[in-house]
Amino acid sequence: MIFAAAVLLQAAGSLAVVEDRVRPDQDILHYHVAVTIPDAGRNISGAVTVRYAVRSGRGPLVLDFDSVFVVDSVVADGRRLSKGGGAGWRGMKGDEGWELRTAHWGQPGDVLEVVVFYHGVPRDGLFVQDNVHGVRTAFADNWPDRARHWFPSEDHPSDKATVSFEIEIPRTWRAIANGALRGVDTLAGGRTRWSWVSARRISTYTMVIGAGRLAVTDLGMVSAAPQSVWTFPEDSAYAVTGPFRRARDMVDVYSRLIGPFPYEKLAHVQSPTRFGGMENASAIFYSERAYATRTLDEETVAHEVAHQWFGDAVTERDWHHLWLSEGFASYLGPLYFELVGEPAAFHAAMERNRRVYMASDVVDRPIIDPTEHQLTNLLNANNYPKGAWVLHMLRGELGDSAFFDGLRAYYAGYRDSTALSADFAAVMERYSGKSLDTFFQQWLLQPGYPKLEVSWNYDDTTLTLEVEQTQPAKWGLFELTLPVRLVLHNGERLDIDVPVSGRRSVLKRELTVMPKEVVADPEGRLLVEAVVRPAAER
Ligand SMILES: [Zn+2]
Repeated sequence: MIFAAAVLLQAAGSLAVVEDRVRPDQDILHYHVAVTIPDAGRNISGAVTVRYAVRSGRGPLVLDFDSVFVVDSVVADGRRLSKGGGAGWRGMKGDEGWELRTAHWGQPGDVLEVVVFYHGVPRDGLFVQDNVHGVRTAFADNWPDRARHWFPSEDHPSDKATVSFEIEIPRTWRAIANGALRGVDTLAGGRTRWSWVSARRISTYTMVIGAGRLAVTDLGMVSAAPQSVWTFPEDSAYAVTGPFRRARDMVDVYSRLIGPFPYEKLAHVQSPTRFGGMENASAIFYSERAYATRTLDEETVAHEVAHQWFGDAVTERDWHHLWLSEGFASYLGPLYFELVGEPAAFHAAMERNRRVYMASDVVDRPIIDPTEHQLTNLLNANNYPKGAWVLHMLRGELGDSAFFDGLRAYYAGYRDSTALSADFAAVMERYSGKSLDTFFQQWLLQPGYPKLEVSWNYDDTTLTLEVEQTQPAKWGLFELTLPVRLVLHNGERLDIDVPVSGRRSVLKRELTVMPKEVVADPEGRLLVEAVVRPAAER
């Protein structure tokens, strides 16, 4: 037992831990990203305006940027800075890779603007390449910190900003990005410039552009936002069928469940993203192959649509709280099916979540795992399926009404902003009316899950139920209420709740007939593995 106490002590307060680096002196307010995609070759040029507030100190403005680019000039509030020296700008190796730093000349409270002009061939983040049909395209793919490979930025989810894009492309192309389309200008030389503006603050990992010969299929308006599917022309027939058939309805259902859709529009975009789907704010990118082979599934669409609320609008302030994004989408995705009267699909998805998590190689580590520094390793079975189960169990603990009221309040309170697990826990506590300390501590900060051995005995008047926690000691002990169903010999069913805490828990109950069968967690509400056997068999 001492180990469990030690786990809790060590974990105390770390629902609020921020392990990632932050730059407290600056707050980026807006990026204006003007980027030119050439007719041939991969050499892009960019002019990026960064508007920021000085919070403390005198700067400098520090931006993540790839050293592969040639910086042609840096202009600060209309003044061209020289390279190097005390009053200029310089590129240097920082803690998190290459950084572009401007001179120290701000005062706390100032709002300043820096423009960076550059050119070069991106080695990541923005891919100018042939698509699945062998046709030239240009698509960004930023998660988790690859925006810096095509525009200078505070490339961390904690510093959200509004963003506008001017994307210069060949005239036969279309360009998509976050936010609303503000216009398409015809330029000399057979080229066009597409302007998109996101008036909502978003994280750099979701700030994207995509361009190429694209067909657009309008899905109509829902929750005050137009929806569309953007595909390569070869795959446009897929837009109105299969996985997007209910895309409008998903936005409608989530809007009513959680709160207004957060963005100006929602585009579902075929792209060469390395992910099956990537929830870029208001412009979801899906794997181009899934369109081309007609294998994109509706569950992926629901997952990415749900991310618009959680992940995009309410963003994890620290990567180690990624479950606030992925766990939520992994739960709300399947939940769509329950909400539209397909509970079997919901339960099948949750059972799959359970199996995937229990069979994974991260069961010995907690969901919030600050020892993990490789961000891509955070795309694991803790942050996805176990995170989904944390929400499902919380819903069971609070009941539907308090759970969904809490979820709505959390969205309303943190929309266009960022949150840590402690913020979510505080809101849910307010709606549950009880302390959820133990719940969040054990499910977010302890590894593993309860393995329960349930034994029972009947002696003519009394049923004795004994529950033993048999999981590895390093996972710690859990406190929970185990639903147990007694199937009696006369066919009646009796549901009882068994409080479980400590290594062994015993419940005695008067009973006039002997149970024929005892079933632990009959409706599969808990992330536990339970074995039931009559005491005589032990
Ligand atoms: Zn996701």
